[in-house]
Amino acid sequence: MTKPSSTRSTFKGNKSALPSKPCTVCGRDMTWRKSWAKNWDDVKYCSEACRKQRKGAAHGD
Ligand SMILES: [Zn+2]
Repeated sequence: MTKPSSTRSTFKGNKSALPSKPCTVCGRDMTWRKSWAKNWDDVKYCSEACRKQRKGAAHGD
């Protein structure tokens, strides 16, 4: 079996130890980032694109 050179053999799914939650817009899983450490609870979008999309969709009501 050949595997991509980008795969690290030492990587054993340690990433799953980090918290994650789905983006409120696209539903994609967002894995905890260090830059989100202080506002993880407020993180709702996986990307700037989703944030804008959400803003555009939420038009009062
Ligand atoms: Zn998203």
